[in-house]
Amino acid sequence: MATRRCFLFCCFMLIFTACTHVKQQGGIVFSFDDDYIDEWHEFKNVFSEHGIKATFFISNPQSLDSLKVLKLKDLQNDNHEIACHGYNHLNCLDYSDSIDIYIKKEITLAINSLKNKGFNVVSFAYPYGESTSYIDSVLLSYFTFLRKATYNIHNTNIDAYDEIYVSSSSTRVCNAMGIDCNYAISLENLEKAIQRAVNNNEILVLYAHKINNSGEDYTISPEYLKKAFQLCNKYKIQSLRMKDISVFPF
Ligand SMILES: [Zn+2]
Repeated sequence: MATRRCFLFCCFMLIFTACTHVKQQGGIVFSFDDDYIDEWHEFKNVFSEHGIKATFFISNPQSLDSLKVLKLKDLQNDNHEIACHGYNHLNCLDYSDSIDIYIKKEITLAINSLKNKGFNVVSFAYPYGESTSYIDSVLLSYFTFLRKATYNIHNTNIDAYDEIYVSSSSTRVCNAMGIDCNYAISLENLEKAIQRAVNNNEILVLYAHKINNSGEDYTISPEYLKKAFQLCNKYKIQSLRMKDISVFPF
């Protein structure tokens, strides 16, 4: 009887230990929009040092010179994702009634231009951040993942925005929170957002533009970004590219 009790106790402890070791980790996507390739490439070592894989959404790919293409390839070789942000950075809402023209002018030309430069893109970020469910449904035959944009206009805690968190690997359309300096999101605020992703095992999606110290709208300082990466390392949150959403273990 004592042996049986001991056996059951050992089984219980084994199961208990296994359960407590299943820790939730959460994920985070850092994305960058437009064509600030020089500035992103300059930050290459900081991405690597912190184990951060970014997604770069490229607009106006037809205007990239050969040096910028080489820098993008170098970023791709570091396992960052190169993705699409349109041929002429058009607002899809201006084409709600003429989606065929939008696809022709903005989407297929961009996909082909990037393909000719060696980038097979599967993710797209809407310029100006908005779309409709109909436009999403059309674009999902060209891309696997679509990203929209959310702005912290109310200067509130960003962990309150459910739409910037992905909680299912079947998600194909998501929002991202802008973290450029003009949105004034403190590192404490960002830390709370990271904590939510870790606690709920969700993916937090963020985006920014140019990395520099100018303090101008749509820039993010190297210092802020480095501290954001340090927070990710502190919480051991998993750095993901957009295309990793479908394989994340929720
Ligand atoms: Zn843009």
